Amino acid sequence: MLSVEEALQKILNEVDPLEEASVPILDSPGQVLAEDIKSDINVPPLDNSAMDGYAVISRDTRGASAESPKFLRVIDTVMAGSISQHEVVPGTAVRIMTGAPVPEGADSVVQFENTDEEKRKESAADRPITRVGILSETSPGLNIRKAGEDIARGTIALRQGTVIRPAEVGLLASLGYSQVKAIRRPVVAVLSTGNELVDVGKPLPEGKIYDSNTYSIAGLVRRYGAIPKILGIAQDSEEELISKLKQAQDADMLVTTGGVSAGDYDMVKDILARDGEMVFWKVRVKPGKPLAFGKIKGSSRDGTTRNIPHLGLPGNAVSCMVSFELFVRPALLKMMGKKNFTKPTVEAIMEDSVKNSAGRRIYDRAIVERRDGRYYARLTGPQGSGVLTSMSRANGLVLIPEDRKEVNKGEVVQAIMLDWNEEVNS
Ligand code: AMP
Ligand code: MG
Repeated sequence: MLSVEEALQKILNEVDPLEEASVPILDSPGQVLAEDIKSDINVPPLDNSAMDGYAVISRDTRGASAESPKFLRVIDTVMAGSISQHEVVPGTAVRIMTGAPVPEGADSVVQFENTDEEKRKESAADRPITRVGILSETSPGLNIRKAGEDIARGTIALRQGTVIRPAEVGLLASLGYSQVKAIRRPVVAVLSTGNELVDVGKPLPEGKIYDSNTYSIAGLVRRYGAIPKILGIAQDSEEELISKLKQAQDADMLVTTGGVSAGDYDMVKDILARDGEMVFWKVRVKPGKPLAFGKIKGSSRDGTTRNIPHLGLPGNAVSCMVSFELFVRPALLKMMGKKNFTKPTVEAIMEDSVKNSAGRRIYDRAIVERRDGRYYARLTGPQGSGVLTSMSRANGLVLIPEDRKEVNKGEVVQAIMLDWNEEVNS
């Protein structure tokens, strides 16, 4: 049976980054930039004021203090978005608001707080303000943002391969881009299998259970930046499975749950082996041993055939989610052009003991907390592979090595962080 690392490697070997497509910038966070972004403009375009104040010639303020202000004639007011038509000459100043281009002649901005602006505003006689007292010396360049200081025209603002986050979206907007070329998001067909399953929103007949995997898996697909295509529920019959699988033909990946164990009706893996290509079945991991991975035939938009990776996850509600985190997530990230597939991992002190009789790598669900500068992990109650609340309460998975029969309370383990604190439920 394959180890987790061997299985993951086989999966990664079979998937490649997808092609690029143009997307509206607001839809691009989480995607990987597929082009260098070279700036055609300076950002900011002109020297502009970093403060509300007075644009002056710094020499004019020499010796200014609260006791002996230097008085200047106010010749104009300029707002952000406008350009003053007046040149600042010795003995004059232009009132200027933050972001407004610095008028010709001025080399510095004195903020309102260092002038007698407030006092003048209070006295009606001084409206409009025609004179201002400067209360402190300023120096050339002070409170002026230089043209191009953020991004200079002709330079590369963002490199191909950059993961787009809100800061990059803002940066693209500051350069005037409404669309950007990025590696497109994979479409992942999601199929649940089992005669016992009923879709949400319908009454639950005796002997049936609601299909939760479709929703937890589609949620994970979305969380990691791909697009779920929900195929619904297939009964455990060959015809129905095959006809549902046909609907996955235009997807970039197929994720099924259930039907990969050794039971009488577990025919997903058999159909995969017969009609597709089975790369492996079973991994030395708990939960999630009966994972099946292979390829099914699909069609491209141009009508040619291609292989679609198929991850056949076990049906148990926890098993399929843990298998997704371990195997599907890295594959999706690779398809999205990302380079780093690992979730953040911390070393945590176990607050529970775990027995490992199966000789498989265990990923138990845990609440990982930082206290006094160290991480501690406690299990989220019963760890049955169908106990979905154990997953809901968890913010991490603790890794119990395959070669350990037992890990005792107080020992240090690796904890994979599924979520950080802001998202934890307990
Ligand atoms: P299987 O892998 O098909 O043998 O299913 C293993 C267990 O997971 C069984 O108890 C199933 O009822 C349960 N199960 C399978 N699919 C789903 C699903 N979509 N939602 C919730 N439970 C499921
Ligand atoms: Mg089943």
